Amino acid sequence: MPGPGDVAEGEAPMIRPSVPAADREIGIRHPILSHGFVALVDYMGDDAAIVQAARVSYGRGTKTVRDDRGLIRYLMRHRHTTPFEMVEVKFLVRLPIFVARQFIRHRTGSFNEASARYSVVPDEYELLPVEAIRRQSTRNRQGRGDPLPAEVVARFREDLDRTCREAYAAHEAALAAGVAREVARLLLPVSYYTQWYWKTNLWNLFHFLSLRLDPHAQEEIRLYAAEIARLGRCVAPVAFEAFEEFELQGLVLTRRERTAVRAMLDGRTPDQACAAAGLPLIRDDGQPMTTGEGVEFLEKLARLRSDEPGG
Ligand SMILES: Cc1cc2nc3c(=O)[nH]c(=O)nc-3n(C[C@H](O)[C@H](O)[C@H](O)COP(=O)(O)OP(=O)(O)OC[C@H]3O[C@@H](n4cnc5c(N)ncnc54)[C@H](O)[C@@H]3O)c2cc1C
Repeated sequence: MPGPGDVAEGEAPMIRPSVPAADREIGIRHPILSHGFVALVDYMGDDAAIVQAARVSYGRGTKTVRDDRGLIRYLMRHRHTTPFEMVEVKFLVRLPIFVARQFIRHRTGSFNEASARYSVVPDEYELLPVEAIRRQSTRNRQGRGDPLPAEVVARFREDLDRTCREAYAAHEAALAAGVAREVARLLLPVSYYTQWYWKTNLWNLFHFLSLRLDPHAQEEIRLYAAEIARLGRCVAPVAFEAFEEFELQGLVLTRRERTAVRAMLDGRTPDQACAAAGLPLIRDDGQPMTTGEGVEFLEKLARLRSDEPGG
């Protein structure tokens, strides 16, 4: 019977992968917002684990054809996703409940949340920085737009602060009167904090990041996503580079958008190209559209023209 450490002839011994850059991060709490943080707790696998899995399907011959980085980029380009699932990452995340509600929609990870039935919720809530409190966006129904007058921002923060303090006082009074923790917590607003362990594999992490680093995602969850991306990159830097290249900064064109691009290559203006492709830019009442397929196509053109890495 082969024992631990025994290796088939010609094969390298298997050693548990460790990545010094990731090891240095284990357990370090990186602050987010007023009371939140993200910490890398553990990981399994690295870039080499992705390559190791892929070579099971492609065979040893690939080693001579492509180097590891080239193989990982090939896998990402061709959406051969399962080798990326060989890498697991586990985080401890402390976050306001309004962010947690968005985060937990990602069903493919494993969560274990602090129980407000079992222990008392600490008196920590989010007021948001002044610059984060802005007008309702006119272009994005789910987003924020222009700045507000300073007195409106100050009033909002005062109201939120008072509401939270009153809510927590009522919560404490309820506990003191013998109300069960699982019932008393109903008094607390969604600006209060919770925390959980979150374990996911690298492919699902990429999916989470592609949605939650996007400018359409709420600013607060984007802060968490950015820190999670930085830590995940420590574990598998080559896979992250490929993810950025092909997924995060890649651009998908729809059938109509391809028609519009062809029209522009033939010398039409973007407006003419949109008209030729059936991408609407003007509403029935003659006003310019602020949302929709035509506007999104112009946004893609703007990204193409932008020099910024995320542009
Ligand atoms: C900008 C933005 C705005 C949003 N607005 C809203 C909103 O207004 N209201 C709202 O309710 N939600 C909203 N969401 C949440 C969104 O609809 C998704 O639930 C969330 O982003 C999780 O995405 P997911 O299902 O792809 O991820 P995961 O749950 O991690 O799933 C990953 C992938 O696994 C597959 N999968 C998992 N479970 C199933 C299943 N049961 N059936 C089929 N395939 C499955 C899918 O391919 C999925 O993409 C918003 C999300 C974003 C990013």
